[in-house]
Amino acid sequence: MNKFYADSMLGKLTRFLRFLGYDTFYRREESVEKMLETSSEDNRIVLSKSKDIVNKCSKLNVKSLFILSNDIIHQLKALYDTLHLEMALPPRNTRCSMCNNVLVEKNKQEIIKFIPKGTANHYDRFWQCSACGKIYWIGSHWRDIEKTIIEAKVGCNYAGKR
Ligand SMILES: [Zn+2]
Repeated sequence: MNKFYADSMLGKLTRFLRFLGYDTFYRREESVEKMLETSSEDNRIVLSKSKDIVNKCSKLNVKSLFILSNDIIHQLKALYDTLHLEMALPPRNTRCSMCNNVLVEKNKQEIIKFIPKGTANHYDRFWQCSACGKIYWIGSHWRDIEKTIIEAKVGCNYAGKR
């Protein structure tokens, strides 16, 4: 499975990739040099909106992809067309959008005290981040993300399975 290192400015794409199950780092404070070094050691594909950074990557033999569009659907399409990413809809392999760690499905009783009452009444399946503890469920936000992923799949060259 491909691993990524997304440059700053690509926060939304980072969250989507994590949601799709891809191990994705996001550059905040780290220097560009550090990002390239980590990507090289860790075999991560650098995603960036900077031509300059993409050029640096090719000089250093670090895989990279120049992200032209600001639109999440176009960004996802570009990734699928270029890398033929598998687009399994969540919750398969889904990672925490905040910290990139894997989610673990939880029994409702285990986490019920941490979620709003209305949510507990409406949903039955819950996942929790193994690192930061954030709890996820298939609410309207999750549905919106799925919708975007499905839209990105329509019309792109990718022809794999869901
Ligand atoms: Zn987390």
